Amino acid sequence: MKSLKKVLAGSAIVVAAAAVYQWGHMDGAGGNSPGLMQSAHAAGATVASGWSPTEPSPTHGVYYPGTEALDPDEMRVIACGSGMPMPRLKQAAACFLIELGNGDKFIFDMGTGSMERIYALGIPLDFIDKVFLTHLHMDHMGDLPAFYIYGPQNNRSKPLRVWGPGGGGTRPEWGTKAALEHVEKTWAWMTGTLAGTIDTRSFSMEVTEYDWSKVNNVIYEENGVRIRTIPAIHLEQAVSFLLDWNGMTLAFSGDTVPNRWWAEYAKGVDFSIHECFLTPNQAIEKWGFSPPEALNALTRVHATAALFGKVMAMTRPKHAVAYHFQNDADTLPGVMDAVQSVYDGPVDYAQDFMVWNITKDGVRTRMAVPNRESFPTPSLAEKIIDTSNPYVSPAWVTEGWAEEAIPFVEEIYKTFNEEHGTNMKFR
Ligand SMILES: [Zn+2]
Ligand SMILES: [Zn+2]
Repeated sequence: MKSLKKVLAGSAIVVAAAAVYQWGHMDGAGGNSPGLMQSAHAAGATVASGWSPTEPSPTHGVYYPGTEALDPDEMRVIACGSGMPMPRLKQAAACFLIELGNGDKFIFDMGTGSMERIYALGIPLDFIDKVFLTHLHMDHMGDLPAFYIYGPQNNRSKPLRVWGPGGGGTRPEWGTKAALEHVEKTWAWMTGTLAGTIDTRSFSMEVTEYDWSKVNNVIYEENGVRIRTIPAIHLEQAVSFLLDWNGMTLAFSGDTVPNRWWAEYAKGVDFSIHECFLTPNQAIEKWGFSPPEALNALTRVHATAALFGKVMAMTRPKHAVAYHFQNDADTLPGVMDAVQSVYDGPVDYAQDFMVWNITKDGVRTRMAVPNRESFPTPSLAEKIIDTSNPYVSPAWVTEGWAEEAIPFVEEIYKTFNEEHGTNMKFR
């Protein structure tokens, strides 16, 4: 009986996948041409038309970043971190990029390992200047310092805007402003020694602390986009986000167990991204947790897979995404069984680089093919290097140049000046 149920579930997935695929085709997304399909039909062709041995393929089952326009009514979400605080090559810690058809882009959480994934999408940094943090655990903000500090060297010209928890507690020293002030202090040597060498105007963060204890608290409202917070149950100073735009709502849980605020405000949303941990037995086997440790961690601080299923059964979003677990061939079946024991709606089990195109008509799920050899995207603003007070190394350090290398480097200068019409002097 159970195996029959599984077969039926399997065919349902195939039918659903075909429907999603078809929806993408009807939309003309992915480089398809409805015209080509129609003419093939009219000619009574039984082979796929539009295919050529020399021209680009008419369809792609994947998303190549930077090759598809975003429709004005469309939202695109990319998982840049679907994993855990236990580092692994396959999955960075929590990070989702949300791109809107109005041109706005938001990052929800920026856990360790996620920065390289963001860079692999080839988006100019000036387009991704808004980062929202659900809480200050390393697996939700660990790559923010690097993303910030690397900005000027990778052509960011704007300050980075960051929203994170602050008020509503008894310890302001635990808030986002205090944390990021310390980040700036920690990297004082690096930022100080770059003065006069590169455009350092983006060595600045505009930090907005929100009161995490408030319910349905609007923390951002610009350009037709509204972002609200609701408290989460995850120690303290943790929230979930609700993003409203163009008549659609996206909910993003951060870390939490099932809570009354999510049950109320994330009900029926268009797109619901929620944490979904392994099962207690998987935590015992894979993480080496003791049975009490596993049960406590997965029910008091986090939502184990069955609790994710329960949350979705309570809120029934149009489309759900489960993240924050090691998504492998041998863990996924157990996670899916636990979820499906309580919830029968559409769920994607996130991996890094999973992509969703979301409109009021539905959701298309694919995988992105990231650029593993990315270079910095070009600067979108004129570079201005302030040379009024440049950093200069101590003289005795620079005087340590190896004598025999000096004529050699002077030759490099001479050749360079001839090639570029410059008059640079080594000394
Ligand atoms: Zn956490
Ligand atoms: Zn977490």
